[in-house]
Amino acid sequence: MIKARFDICYCSGRDAPYGRVNAGGVLFQSREKGKFMVIKAVKLYGNGFMTEPFAKGGEDGPDRFDPKVKYRSSLQNFVVETDEGVFLVDTGMPVETPDAAPDESTVIYMGARIADYVTALKNLGYAPEDVKGILVTHKHADHTGELRAFPNAKIYLSEAEADALGLSGDNVVRVRFTDGAYHNFPASQRIAAGLYLIEAKGHTTGNSIVIAEKDGRFYMMHGDVTYTDEALYDNKLSVVYEDAAEARRTLDLVREFIRSNPTVYLSTHTPLGYENLEGDVVVDLANPPATVFPEEIVYKTSTGKYICSVCGYVYDPEKGDPKNGIPAGTAFEDLPDDWRCPRCRKSKDKFERA
Ligand SMILES: [Zn+2]
Ligand SMILES: [Zn+2]
Ligand SMILES: [Zn+2]
Repeated sequence: MIKARFDICYCSGRDAPYGRVNAGGVLFQSREKGKFMVIKAVKLYGNGFMTEPFAKGGEDGPDRFDPKVKYRSSLQNFVVETDEGVFLVDTGMPVETPDAAPDESTVIYMGARIADYVTALKNLGYAPEDVKGILVTHKHADHTGELRAFPNAKIYLSEAEADALGLSGDNVVRVRFTDGAYHNFPASQRIAAGLYLIEAKGHTTGNSIVIAEKDGRFYMMHGDVTYTDEALYDNKLSVVYEDAAEARRTLDLVREFIRSNPTVYLSTHTPLGYENLEGDVVVDLANPPATVFPEEIVYKTSTGKYICSVCGYVYDPEKGDPKNGIPAGTAFEDLPDDWRCPRCRKSKDKFERA
């Protein structure tokens, strides 16, 4: 990885020793620790959509918004390479996840698969063995799908999310946010120079955000604090949260932070996440950019399978759920209303058509 970082170094002229090579072709080791950093998006799904009621209806109610208004959607996570090693922020969907098949009732469709997580990472120049640490924003399957692919990496996440995922082992670091306040956020943990995991509950019980500091800017990898930037500018919560009061508090803290610090907002579920990164766009809450709407939306024929949006479990009607009294051949639509995901116990309405 040394060579790759050399090619793409963002360092300023002041820090020129970064780029020098000695007679043996090896980078000088005298660089100031923590000065090098590069952030990249790991692009996984694209050309999807989400509805306005989904993205903004968490407090006012989804029926206060127009389901015909659709925003673009995607799925990407982020890599932060530093002097201290390569760190991932979340690890995408499980590779075996079937493609979703959106219909008129779909509220969020991340789009068609671009690449599975490990392949997308390799395309950016990183092998699983290169990864030193993984910062997990929260437990959902689209953020933790390939944690298993990085045996050498330390996994940093909150106690609540570690418990929810049933993670244990020497490589799991249960972060207790003992480094105190980070700007206006009350609780944080420094993971590496300029890289912080920050307590930000609400979307899930143990939700966190990640901030990377580079060249005086703050790159906020917030997981799902909002699903689209329009919700950030409009100060609206999405319909997905485990604790409404905490989710509101977190969005207030995020907006307060952004008002006081030059912040590049790196979302997971809108292509604005990587567009903001690539364009180095600093959020100005008082001046929302114009919304770019999705291109034509194409619905797909269903396979009959449904995917749990929380844990990634796939309901296959050909197999049913015999352990819970559902015989093979039972269509998802015919499952009893009180049927729950056999893996994470969430209700039917958390499932998406595949
Ligand atoms: Zn989530
Ligand atoms: Zn998500
Ligand atoms: Zn589930």
